Amino acid sequence: MDVPDDPPATCPVCETAYDSVSVHDSGLMVNLLDNERYQRVCFEPTSDGGGRTPLLRFYHHTHEQAGTTRPSRTRSRSSSD
Ligand SMILES: [Zn+2]
Repeated sequence: MDVPDDPPATCPVCETAYDSVSVHDSGLMVNLLDNERYQRVCFEPTSDGGGRTPLLRFYHHTHEQAGTTRPSRTRSRSSSD
């Protein structure tokens, strides 16, 4: 994982503020279903300076930035009534 030298002020995908940005040059798995910090991650295809290596930029949005509330469900099922 790397961080770009010139990150934009807002996410270029959804134009919303983001918490962090990372750069990836290989495959990885993303699961935010149970993530308490981030609501979503936007993916922007890009490349290195010379355009030789395809890269992916990940823009991490917290629940506050995405305008949602944190997942409040617990591990136990107590909504029987
Ligand atoms: Zn975004």
